[in-house]
Amino acid sequence: MTAFYFDNRFIHELPGDPSLQNQPRQVLGAFWSPVVPQPVETPQLIAFASEVAVLLGIPEAELTAGAWLNALSGNAVLPGMTPFATCYGGHQFGQWAGQLGDGRAISLGELIYNQQRWELQLKGAGVTPYSRRGDGKAVLRSSIREFLCSEAMYHLGVPTTRALSLVLTGESIWRDMFYDGNPKQEPGAIVCRVAPSFIRFGHFQLPAMRGEHQLLNQLIDFTIDRDFPHLSGEPATQRRARWFHEICRATATLMVEWMRVGFVHGVMNTDNMSILGLTLDYGPYGWVDNFDLHWTPNTTDAEGRRYCFGRQPAIARWNLQRLAEALGTVMSDHAVLEEGLSQFDQAFAREIGEMLAAKLGFTHWQENDSALVDRLFALLQQAEVDMTLFFRQLAVVEPHTPDLTVLADVFYRDDLFQQYQVDFQSWLQDYGQRVLADGQPAQERLAKMNRVNPLYVLRNYLAQQVIEDAEQGNYQPIAELLEVLRHPYTEQSGKEAYAQKRPDWAREKAGCSMLSCSS
Ligand code: AMP
Ligand code: MG
Repeated sequence: MTAFYFDNRFIHELPGDPSLQNQPRQVLGAFWSPVVPQPVETPQLIAFASEVAVLLGIPEAELTAGAWLNALSGNAVLPGMTPFATCYGGHQFGQWAGQLGDGRAISLGELIYNQQRWELQLKGAGVTPYSRRGDGKAVLRSSIREFLCSEAMYHLGVPTTRALSLVLTGESIWRDMFYDGNPKQEPGAIVCRVAPSFIRFGHFQLPAMRGEHQLLNQLIDFTIDRDFPHLSGEPATQRRARWFHEICRATATLMVEWMRVGFVHGVMNTDNMSILGLTLDYGPYGWVDNFDLHWTPNTTDAEGRRYCFGRQPAIARWNLQRLAEALGTVMSDHAVLEEGLSQFDQAFAREIGEMLAAKLGFTHWQENDSALVDRLFALLQQAEVDMTLFFRQLAVVEPHTPDLTVLADVFYRDDLFQQYQVDFQSWLQDYGQRVLADGQPAQERLAKMNRVNPLYVLRNYLAQQVIEDAEQGNYQPIAELLEVLRHPYTEQSGKEAYAQKRPDWAREKAGCSMLSCSS
């Protein structure tokens, strides 16, 4: 077997839990607990991302049959791996929730390959001291969703954790999908996710809240040193400030990217926020079909809509404020933390403008474009227009005599199309004028727009279809969907079925428009 090098800095440099008791408890004075994945009966690899295997230097044969398959199902620990679960807290839906931690994630180790660090983490491999009342397991449906979306996001160019493998465990686990007293048995699965760092805002919050200042200082220094090595040369007084500013800017960029592709995370609690600005923890996320800033896929949040599509940037900023408060317990210069938040504001304002201009096919964002965008968003929302298909079709609108019929197919309802026809036509007229003012050749505008407006996204109903196939034992559709999502901006012949509006049957169907945290 190929030899692999794991340096496991997190557990070598940060204090660990002296107790080996694997039962729910408060873990004080430590960032991680040693744990062992729970062996499973009949592991079966049902999907993997070959490009992630390449990143890690894992030969495909070892992944599909050899020692790696055993490691990815929790049945073996390879030489160099030292499994652990980490300790963090978080604000959930606006409230401080205390200790949370990796309740069903177990890191196998930090693999170094091609001078890059990749932490490998199994999701659903059994209980840890942070499992609280949970079983530490994950079901097939949510594992398929995490596997596919991680990779879809990567290919869209959105910062994200990656997914190496999807293993069926052969076990059945009990879940009450909508917390309505109807539990049923579902197939268990494990995703191996991969990222340079899984450190979350909540990792800093917990020691801050507990007054464990030395611990917090250790984590800050460790994170800068390991995950922001380019800052190591900065004078000590500036290093932490620069670091926080970078986190703020990366988070702003992530929000712009989510808004660009129509992704709604669904559970933006501070424990689900990555210090590297990666999309992290795919739970009841969803993709916008008809453009709707108020939409949330998460039934648990249907009431307050705290984490709906349009509020994501404001929530990210709120989360950064909570991080700043935590850091402020050991960083005496609070002005640098304020400065970070204003860098978030500036970066977001600049990048959202550039992003919208690119989506609309303008060469640059101009101040008075916001009126045009506001009118468009209101129309898209009121008239129930498919976000993804609208921007793809907009690229072929002829600016001299813009014609709404080119866009007729992207409306969900005929009656609303009729009702808003005149308003849309007048918007298109102004849009055409704006495009002409740029003087960009039509082909150039089209090509540029198609590079930022994906044609294929992981629509909720597409994910649900492959889930239903997989629950019947047919796993091929997962690979087929992943293959389409590898080239989201390129029209692929024969793949039209993946670039359709949400069908009517999926409108209110569980899994398609309604998801819960149960996974
Ligand atoms: P999430 O809402 O998925 O980000 O999870 C919030 C917290 O609940 C984290 O600490 C998770 O590790 C934990 N958790 C979620 N599901 C389970 C489960 N099935 N078993 C144990 N812990 C879980
Ligand atoms: Mg989480």
